[in-house]
Amino acid sequence: MSDYLSIKEQDKQYVLHSWAKQGSFNPKVIAKAEGVCFWDDAGNRYFDMSSQLVYVNVGHQHPKVLKAFQEIGTYPLAGPSFATKPKSDLSQRIIELAPSNMAKVFYTSGGAEANDHAVKIARMVSGRYKIFSRYRSYHGATFGAGNLTGESRRFAAEPGLPGFVKFEVPYLYREVIDFDSEEAATAYYLGKLRNQILYEGSDTIAAIFIEPIPGSNGVLIPPKGYLEGVRALCDEFGILMICDEVMTGFGRTGKGFAVDHYDFKPDIMTFAKGVTSGYAPLGGVIISEDISRFFDENVLMTGLTYSGHTMCTQIGVANLEVYEEENIFENAEKMGILLKQRLEKLLTFPSIGEIRSIGLFAGVELVKDKATKEPIIQYGLDYGKDPVGLMNKFISMLSANGFYTYSHESTVIIAPPLIITEEQINEAMDIFESTLKQFEKEGLF
Ligand code: PLP
Repeated sequence: MSDYLSIKEQDKQYVLHSWAKQGSFNPKVIAKAEGVCFWDDAGNRYFDMSSQLVYVNVGHQHPKVLKAFQEIGTYPLAGPSFATKPKSDLSQRIIELAPSNMAKVFYTSGGAEANDHAVKIARMVSGRYKIFSRYRSYHGATFGAGNLTGESRRFAAEPGLPGFVKFEVPYLYREVIDFDSEEAATAYYLGKLRNQILYEGSDTIAAIFIEPIPGSNGVLIPPKGYLEGVRALCDEFGILMICDEVMTGFGRTGKGFAVDHYDFKPDIMTFAKGVTSGYAPLGGVIISEDISRFFDENVLMTGLTYSGHTMCTQIGVANLEVYEEENIFENAEKMGILLKQRLEKLLTFPSIGEIRSIGLFAGVELVKDKATKEPIIQYGLDYGKDPVGLMNKFISMLSANGFYTYSHESTVIIAPPLIITEEQINEAMDIFESTLKQFEKEGLF
């Protein structure tokens, strides 16, 4: 029995894996990783086309981030009430990168915790209790974030917490109405949202919580003017606008944050993953100047032992330096254009219904029938799982051919490390295309 076989057996015996039936779960052993690739224990190489869970932005084993680990101990471990150099430096860098109205950061250990705290902060500041969030969103698995979540993973947190209200996300490919333009779609969704705000009682609503570009649920790029319109509704009714940038933040879309693509500023933003490229568990809530002033006079009624953890913020600083020194966001923007060109070519395949991408953040939606848009997996059927295993089959075939990623419902997520080169995109997308041919030839869809 090799070492790695024993790692796997120990894992199967002792580890619980997220969102999985444990009996049939078969983890890969990751033995080595570098840049945009990793290798399993049998020596097979994979392009990491999901950056693990959309976080290894600077690539695997980045020397500068690894060096920051060697320097741990440079600064003493400190509880959250202390000021430390890494925490101070990282906070200034984050505020400088964030929209100009942002002022301060509260740190958490990950994305769900960040969203839980954003809800608490919005309630403290507004004195209101209802929180609007959207169907087809994912905000995390804790009880609060699970209740914000709009897709089927929220069922694990039900019956829900009082005051959490869901509204529709613009998903034009699957909308029953055939809009003449993006503007028409925007007007429709905003009209519906405005009604819902009135039906719920506008002065009970603390915040509207959205992923500017829903990620896990298939990279749903909003129609023109939609996000600005949500901001206008928030202003009209005195509601706080919270943007969950856990997946989209730190260059994923080719800019610092996804909101930078649009003409509005949120009141609160949440982040995690890309702040450390996942090298250390860190997340947080960024609050605006106005909210920051509120807490000058009012107690911030929350706290975490590891808020602003010295090691995690130190890794964060090194990671943000890499972004700057290596022009990583610019690379994401440039390579995103190339990725989009490669993805658009896939539209000639009968099983490809739609592609959506921005920067290095893409969703490829598969269909059983292009004319009817019949999805491979029906939303809500078996909680969105894959009853006949077709998407699983496609993902396994991709993986066997060296293209590692994951899917949600009928959409394959493509989100490689932001350091990817033109040559690597072409090599990986050649694998995707040939696997798709194989999938269609075998009549698997
Ligand atoms: N918010 C978004 C948009 C996410 O994509 C995720 C995770 O994928 C989360 C929140 C939850 O983050 P975490 O898993 O770090 O709790």
